[in-house]
Order: sequence, then C-alpha cells, then structure tokens
Amino acid sequence: MNEFLQTPIAFLKGVGPQRAELLRQEINVVTVNDLLNYFPFRYVDRSAYHTVADLRYLDSYAQLRGTLVGINEVAVGRQKKLVAKFQDASGLIELVWFQGIHFIKPLLKLGAEYQVYGKAKMYGNTWNIPHPELTEWQNVGLKTGIQPVYSSTEKLAAKGLHTKGIEKLTSVLALQLKGKIPEILPDEILKAHNFMSREAAFKEVHLPTSEHAFHVARQRLKFEELFFLQMELLLRKQISVSKSKGFIFSEVGTLFTDFYEKYLPFSLTGAQKRVLKEIRKDFLSGHHMNRLLQGDVGSGKTLVALLTMLIANGNGFQAALMAPTEILANQHAETLREMVKDLPIRIELLTGSITKKNRVHIHEGLEDGSVHILVGTHALLEDTVQFSNLGCVVIDEQHRFGVAQRARMWRKNTTPPHVLIMTATPIPRTLAMTFYGDLDVSVIDELPPGRKPISTVHRYESHRLRVFGFMKEEIAKGRQIYIVYPLINESEKLDFNNLINGYEAITRSFPMPNYQVSIVHGQMKPADKDFEMQRFIKGETQIMVATTVIEVGVNVPNASVMIIESSERFGLSQLHQLRGRVGRGAEQSFCILMTGDKLSKDTLKRIETMVRSSDGFEIAEVDLQLRGPGDLMGTQQSGLLNLKIADLAKDSQLVILARDAARSILEKDPNLSLPEYASIRMILVDVLKTKPDWGKIA
Ligand code: ADP
Ligand code: MG
Repeated sequence: MNEFLQTPIAFLKGVGPQRAELLRQEINVVTVNDLLNYFPFRYVDRSAYHTVADLRYLDSYAQLRGTLVGINEVAVGRQKKLVAKFQDASGLIELVWFQGIHFIKPLLKLGAEYQVYGKAKMYGNTWNIPHPELTEWQNVGLKTGIQPVYSSTEKLAAKGLHTKGIEKLTSVLALQLKGKIPEILPDEILKAHNFMSREAAFKEVHLPTSEHAFHVARQRLKFEELFFLQMELLLRKQISVSKSKGFIFSEVGTLFTDFYEKYLPFSLTGAQKRVLKEIRKDFLSGHHMNRLLQGDVGSGKTLVALLTMLIANGNGFQAALMAPTEILANQHAETLREMVKDLPIRIELLTGSITKKNRVHIHEGLEDGSVHILVGTHALLEDTVQFSNLGCVVIDEQHRFGVAQRARMWRKNTTPPHVLIMTATPIPRTLAMTFYGDLDVSVIDELPPGRKPISTVHRYESHRLRVFGFMKEEIAKGRQIYIVYPLINESEKLDFNNLINGYEAITRSFPMPNYQVSIVHGQMKPADKDFEMQRFIKGETQIMVATTVIEVGVNVPNASVMIIESSERFGLSQLHQLRGRVGRGAEQSFCILMTGDKLSKDTLKRIETMVRSSDGFEIAEVDLQLRGPGDLMGTQQSGLLNLKIADLAKDSQLVILARDAARSILEKDPNLSLPEYASIRMILVDVLKTKPDWGKIA
C-alpha cells in the first residue's frame, strides 16, 4: 500500500498524538487509510429544515433549527432522564436523553441556537425527540446540502470527536486525496459497471456533492470490497482443488446399479438425478470433493447420501455418514439398513452410547474393511476410529459442524476422503457464495411428487383451548402430534420451566389412559431420550413434547401436527425446519404457530411469512432481511461479516456481480499474471499473508 495511505493518523491536521491514540482505542483507526475506510452510516440532507409544527405530518427523521430554552434532570423511578426544551417560531418540543446524561448535560448551552436531528415521538401531549443529534448552529457552518453522519463513542465525543468532529477530519482528508489514491480495479470492470475512480469515490462518500453522486460512489466501494472477498474465496478454492488429490471412483459399481434397478422404491426426482451427476463428476476429476448439498426438508437428501456412499463402496472404499445428534444417527442407520437389506452391505452405528464390547467389534470391522458404511455422531471423529480405506464422508446438517471438524475427517485416510455436506437450512444464494465460497454447491430444489402441502396457521395464546380441541380430533383420527418449546439455551432455567409446565398442562388436558404423552429434552440421558423417541416412532404415544432436539431429520410419517410454542422466539429458518418434521405421510398435515397475544410488527411479518410460504429459500431470504447475516449464520464464521461498507443482506445484487467479475477474471488468468491484474494480485498477496488459515491450505 502506498505511503500516503499508511501515514499515521496523528499527522492529519486536527488530530495530534492524543486524539490519535483515542481513535485507535475507540474505533481502530490508525492510518489515513483506516480513516478513509471509516464510512458514514447515514447521510442527511442539511438543506431541508422542518418546523416543530410540521412534526405531526412527519413519519420519519426531522431536522429542526431553534433555541434551547430549558435544561432539566428529571427522576423517572430510580432512573434519571435529561430533558431540554427546544423552541422554534412554530412551537416547543422536548429533547430527551436516558443515557450519557453526565457527559451531555455540560455540553448543552441554554439560550444557544442549535440544529437538531432525530425521530420525533408523541409523548403525553408534547412531541419529544429521544437522543437527538445536536449541533450548535455556529458549528453547522455554511455547509448545506448532503452531510455524512459518522458513529462516535462517548470518549471520542468528550474530546470533540462527535459525528461533526469526525466529519471535520474526513473532509480535511478528502481534500488531500488528489493524485494519491491509485486505482485498484482493472479497467474492464470500471468500464463494465461505469464506476467512478477510487479517488473520486473516497472523496464523494466523505464529502458528498449530491444524493446521486454519493450513492454511486458507495456502490463502487461496496463492489470493490465484495470483489476482493470473492476473489479471495475463489482463489482459496482454486488452490485447495489443485493441491488436493482425490480418489478416483471410475465406475458407479454394481452395488449402485443393483440398488438402483432392483430396490429403489421410487424413481429419483430430476433434482436428485442432477445432483448425483455433479457428484459423479467430482468422483472422476482426480480432485478431492468438497461439496455442499442444500435441499429443503423432505427433499430426499438421505437417498442421495446413500447412493453416493454406494458408489464409494462399489469402488472398494468405505464410507461414513455423520449426523449431529444421536437420535438422528440412529434413525439414519435404521433407514439405510432397511433400504439396503438385500445388498451385501454391512452398516454399523457408532455413537457415544454404544457399549465398549460393541465398539471394539465395530473398530475391528472398520480396520479389516468388513464394515462398508459407518453411521454415527461426533464419535466418528475420535482418533481411535480408524478405517481400512475410507473414501467418502457425508456430513448431515452441516451448520452444526465446524471447519476444524471437517478437517479431522480428511485425515482419516492418506488421501483425504471426498466430503459431501448436506444441509436442510436453505441459505440465500448470496450468503452461500460468501460463507461457503470455498465449497461447490448443489441444490435439490424439487420435492418428491405427491406431497400434500402442510397447512400452516397462526394461533394466539388466548386460543389455546380451541387448539387442544383440534388436537383431540386429530388424535381420534389416529394421528400423532409434536409440541415444541423454545429451549434456545438448554441450561436456561426459565425456558426449562416453560417446557415442564407445558408438559404438565398437556398431561392434565390429555390424561392417561386415553392419551400417552412423551417428553424429550437435552437434559435427559441419551438412553432415556432414545427410549421416549422410540415410543413415539412406534406410535405408542400420541403426543411428543420436545425441545428443538427434534429439529433435524427425525422422520415419523404418522405425525401430522406440529405445534410450536412461543414461535415468535424462533428464527424463521428454525421454524421451517421444525415444520418439516410433519407432512411426511399420506395425511393432510398441520403446523400451528402459537404466539403471545401482543406481537411487534416485525414478528407479525415473520409469522405471516411462515403462514404464506413453504419455500425454504424464500423464507431464508426474509430471515436474512429481518435479522441480518450474523444471526442467520451464527457467529462461527463472523470474520466474513466484518465488512466495512457492503452489507450481505442489502447488497445481494452486488454480491452476485462481484462474484461474476471475480470468476471471469480467474477463468481468464488463474494466476493473475497479466499486467492489468497486477494491482489485484498485489492486494491479494497481502490479504493472504495476514490470514494464517491460508498458509495451511496453500
Ligand atoms: P431430507 O432431505 O429432509 O433429509 P429425506 O431424505 O428424509 O429428506 O426424505 C424424505 C422422504 O422422502 C423419505 O421418506 C424418502 O424416502 C422420500 N423420498 C426421497 N426421495 C424420493 C423420491 N425421489 N420419490 C419419492 N419419495 C422420495
Ligand atoms: Mg435429512
């Protein structure tokens, strides 16, 4: 990076050593480059002023000009609030602070003229603006028009670096950029997207000239950020593919063809066939497969897993299927054994609760090669589990496994076995590109024929008795019912009490001997859990009260009603997962989303989305818009979320453009050796050096 950009921020006019230290501590700004990349979080049009009298017509932020005519601290219970009376020619309002009173109060000047910006609310019969942005009129200066707003901190504000103070620094800096910001995007991209130069873009975001211009400038900088991210991910994939040799499975083998021709109980869906073709191609490529298979609940991923493993077996290799819970591992083992019962295939199940004697027996079978398919939980990862010739690993419900765990499976053979990761949580395309940028992605976007859509309804707590009535009718028809409680955190006492209270209420309304009720939760011993689960699977109990431990994979075709308690507390993707537990048999299935009687607008929108849509990808998209990528993906890979200007939820179009641009460059010039890509190459080399992860792969 050039000298100018690396200049310590202390040397910028108006900073100095003290503020420089504070900027480092508070917002991690050390160099000129850091400050340039400290972007405004909003822009306001400073040329438009409202009046107090306008407020009642205004539904958004207001900008006022007037005088402070009173400053008071008021007790609210044991708390205090700071109230300043603010007046213009048309009326009076209150500015209110609940926090930071001790540092804001001394800054306020009674009788001085101010510019006020914020969202007004009616409170009692006066308007007030909580936590407004406040600038003394004499500091507003002559600048009119669009102004950037920066986030600040209490400590920065105390040293004059509130949003205005930071704006002063960035505008000083923006005026010094001429000739000092080299272009880093190649011409072809600038031309294709009609982007302004890097220098112009930095200047415009900090010193905006018009709404259109700063928008265009931001698009360019967002694109740039996403482009380098995609470049990095694609390069990572390129390197890992070219470095890692994989087993070649040259034929599908007789096991596969026998099963396919003689025992497959139905024909594959078009999507299943397409995915198998993609996997076949990987198996023939000579490289290590690293493939993510996304498919909605019930789309038939298990069958794809089995066929994939049969190809490995048919080529003389062993295969493993890893599931996130013991219940699921059990169920997979049973399903697979049933499906291949007429084939010469030995399937073993390895979980934490397998007895020592059995375990020894299984280990022997793995080592002498007589076990063809091993199904299990995390127990598979243990170093004591050694295979004679492991060729392929299928991981079900990927989001519960970390990258490190994937890597442990790679080490189970001299050449890493092929890896297929299956997830039933559809991820919006733009997120998949980013979070799984180093994987190939296959999608099953088609459900097997003849599924009856699940009827989803929303019921308020106050309708509980009617819901119980409905449950009784369904049970009388021979159906089974799930009731799921949110136990987001298994150790949380309150949640746990809700579950137990709910269970007791159910047993009171559905008494023995007419009704049998099961309960399964994370604090039970695996053996007890399994026992209860089995009772439900066999139809001995009609109601299963559970936590989200039943979320993934469990298959009980006769269960046709899913009731989700406090459903406002679940993420949409999780609700969709839970709903997927029903609708697996021939009967009409129902999902009832129970909520409290009072819901926020956002919550109502989320619940309505669930009622309206059964498309996992659409639901994931809404979830992304409402909750943001962090909540959707968990914090595990949050490094990818440290974007400075782009937003994976809001800028999805740009993500796709950036991905396409990065891909087409790498297709043309995989090593970035052409002169026009020299600047890209230099930046990426830098980026890769600072990521230790990279060295390991490269
Ligand atoms: P998931 O993708 O959620 O893991 P499963 O693999 O459990 O879905 O499949 C759900 C159900 O659909 C199973 O009962 C399975 O036997 C059935 N199934 C899978 N593929 C087909 C198909 N091509 N035609 C009909 N039924 C299928
Ligand atoms: Mg499954």
